[in-house]
Amino acid sequence: MSQQKVRVRFAPSPTGPLHIGGVRTALYNYLLAKQKGGDFILRIEDTDSQRFVPGAEEYIIESFQWLGIQFDEGVSFGGNYGPYRQSERKEIYKKYVEQLLNAGLAYYAFDTPEELEAKRTEIANFQYDASTRMQMRNSLTLPEEETEKLIANGEKYVVRIKIESNENICVNDLIRGEVVINSSVLDDKVLFKSADQLPTYHLANIVDDHLMEITHVIRGEEWLPSAPLHILLYRYFGWTDTMPQFAHLPLLLKPEGNGKLSKRDGDRLGFPVFPLKWKDPKTGEISSGYRESGYLPEAVVNFLALLGWSPGNDQEIMSMDEMIRLFNLTHCSKSGAKFDYEKGKWFNHQYLVKKDDKEIALLFMPVLQEHQINADIAYVEKVVGLVKERVTFVKELWEQASFFFVAPTQYDEKVVKKRWKDDSAAQLAELAEVLKSREPFDVHGTEDVVKAWIEAKGYHLGNIMNATRLALVGESKGPHIFDITATLGKEETIKRIHQAINKLG
Ligand code: GLU
Repeated sequence: MSQQKVRVRFAPSPTGPLHIGGVRTALYNYLLAKQKGGDFILRIEDTDSQRFVPGAEEYIIESFQWLGIQFDEGVSFGGNYGPYRQSERKEIYKKYVEQLLNAGLAYYAFDTPEELEAKRTEIANFQYDASTRMQMRNSLTLPEEETEKLIANGEKYVVRIKIESNENICVNDLIRGEVVINSSVLDDKVLFKSADQLPTYHLANIVDDHLMEITHVIRGEEWLPSAPLHILLYRYFGWTDTMPQFAHLPLLLKPEGNGKLSKRDGDRLGFPVFPLKWKDPKTGEISSGYRESGYLPEAVVNFLALLGWSPGNDQEIMSMDEMIRLFNLTHCSKSGAKFDYEKGKWFNHQYLVKKDDKEIALLFMPVLQEHQINADIAYVEKVVGLVKERVTFVKELWEQASFFFVAPTQYDEKVVKKRWKDDSAAQLAELAEVLKSREPFDVHGTEDVVKAWIEAKGYHLGNIMNATRLALVGESKGPHIFDITATLGKEETIKRIHQAINKLG
């Protein structure tokens, strides 16, 4: 028998911006699909119209585009199992609700919100289940004609699954192993609502996983309590043979490690919990995103991949291809992963340093333009190569490298006091002469010549270098001094030296 093709899905509900934990869930699905030569599907679970937020679907699609996580099928990607938006699959679900009703595995319930509320006050910890359903107003307790009449009269109803009590249901989880849950803790969940003619999450999710031939359901652990119900649904439909394998991922925890990572943690500690910036359409509130905060998508992906999974050794920096090769669900941790955002910055630095200078230069160009600098890309590339080791984000390059684009107009007072000696002006005037006749104005040749001159004169190397740096940079920072001179060029270097002599005397 040929092996079944791996098909996994990411199935977000468009209720707001995609949380970074959701991105990790999608990433793990993607890694598994690519490793197995399978398909990765984007399904939008929008059957809860109450919670629908405009723009959320577009946001989700744009996020994955930015992150370089590609779908093979789904909303906006097409495919043979569509439509992939659940709100467009209404008619499909009805048939399956009918099937359960006809088989006596589900029933109509007419209880009004008031009636349910009354029961809740009457019975402590009320749950609509085998122990209570016969006290309620549903097709199990009403005469058949009455049920038919109510439906014909357009009375509002829901369809509930009928769950028998006291049966152990075993979830075989690829990460957690066997998780046994007794059916008595489950309630007769609503599967369909006549009011909007829409199924609830549980029914739509199972029907779609089946019809879309999903082989693995990889999702957050908040869905583990729903898994027994889902297993029952597969059984009720007679689909147990093709039931997907489950893998419930551990939570992303607060950086301190106690409790689930929330947007408030991000606000409190100053890091984004969303891939892209998000503006709440109702409140106008803005939440920061990794993209706008200057993170490289590769760094974000690498960082997230290791929150809950490791390749089994110390390797941390991995390309997408490597992660695809190494990924293994059974190496995922059962316990929550602390969201160490400082580590996220570390990843960004690593990726920035690894990147081509040219690529970074292109990312730096807009920052330069913000500072009214129109520089030649080749020059920017050279500068980037000299300072990229010192930054975490592209925008920080400006702090490190602005002097390559604008000559200092003032000099750091403390540095002047310490580094501009009585003889600095005279010595730098001589240095300017030495530099003038130097050709080519390269890094090492120039360094040799200058050092030879200092030695011949018996000057103090450190003093001259410090004063020169002050003249060229305006303070005491920056890369190797002869890298600076070679990059600025002869004319600019000499000009800055003369300017410092004039200003500092
Ligand atoms: N729509 C659910 C969510 O928003 C999907 C859960 C699942 O993957 O089954 O997370």
